[in-house]
Amino acid sequence: MQITKNVVALIHYTLKDDTGEVIDKSQEGTPMPYLHGHGNLIPGLEDELEGKKLGDKLNARIEPKDAYGVRNDEMIQDVPRAQLPEDVDIQPGMQFQAQGEGGVNVVTVVGVEDGQVRLDGNHPLAGVTLNFEVEIAEVREASAEELQHGHVHGAGGHQH
Ligand code: ZN
Repeated sequence: MQITKNVVALIHYTLKDDTGEVIDKSQEGTPMPYLHGHGNLIPGLEDELEGKKLGDKLNARIEPKDAYGVRNDEMIQDVPRAQLPEDVDIQPGMQFQAQGEGGVNVVTVVGVEDGQVRLDGNHPLAGVTLNFEVEIAEVREASAEELQHGHVHGAGGHQH
């Protein structure tokens, strides 16, 4: 059985940036399940997995435009320190969830100076080329309910 739209695949993966640093990986011995063709993975990785089958291994190098997008400098803004919670010690590198136009966004503090806090609303992986090592651990039919919901149920998926 091949990976194609509406099929559930379980994958072991390791994700590295171009310096070889590990950004993310599936849990040891527990492959990550996803429903193919429903936007549950970044587009570039779904393209690479299309047509693969149990036991296949692949290395995929995915440019930002097919991953978390290119960086947009307009998403960097300065806000007065007073607009942020007083009881939090704001430091560069901290991340907040902020309500944006398209839902909840993660913003990263990139600087604190003169009563101003510089916030970067780009996805933390925007502009980053992603290097995946993937092994296909299982490929199965999706249940009618999974197709209706557009995601995987059970271990490693949605529990409801
Ligand atoms: Zn569901």
